[in-house]
Amino acid sequence: MTGSATFSIGLFCGSRDGGDPGYREAAEQLGAAIARRGWTLVYGGSSIGLMAAAANAALHGGGRVVGVMPKSLVQRELVHAALSELRIVETMSERKELMAHLSDAFVVLPGGIGTMDELFEVWTWRYLGAHQKRCVLINVNGFYDTLLGQVAQMSNQGFLAADAADALLVSADIGSAIDMLATAQEPQ
Ligand code: AMP
Repeated sequence: MTGSATFSIGLFCGSRDGGDPGYREAAEQLGAAIARRGWTLVYGGSSIGLMAAAANAALHGGGRVVGVMPKSLVQRELVHAALSELRIVETMSERKELMAHLSDAFVVLPGGIGTMDELFEVWTWRYLGAHQKRCVLINVNGFYDTLLGQVAQMSNQGFLAADAADALLVSADIGSAIDMLATAQEPQ
């Protein structure tokens, strides 16, 4: 655990809604499920896109939501005004570091290059042994099929060790992602 009072889930996802309403529904379901479990949601602190959808659903469900926002993005990404806690940091790197520190496990929904950057960082950190926290990719409506195809290609061509590939858990829906995250609460 991180030392935080409750089990904390770090969420990486788009600062936009994307082209399929299912993405936003998934973000809302995830936020609500995290709140129902009594977990804390740790995310980037925005009031836009899937990030906001998950945060608002968690807050609506009575959950605790911690936002971590770099100074430079406070205006651009419109910081969420009603979070349980807001941490303003200097840089993007500090944001990722603090989010990682505050989280006991990570979950990834559809998103853009920011989401990719965050996913690959926590995944590689786990593979390199910098942390032992679970990383769960939620493949909402097949959004990540092409990425997973690339991961398979890296494995097949000998660029990715089996244990590195296994360090990224993939779920097709929110229910199974929550089950995978819940397992992370048990001693590993
Ligand atoms: P996106 O998936 O591009 O919509 O971005 C999702 C979130 O990732 C947004 O809050 C971005 O500000 C954030 N982000 C983008 N690049 C980085 C980075 N290098 N480090 C940390 N966060 C980032």
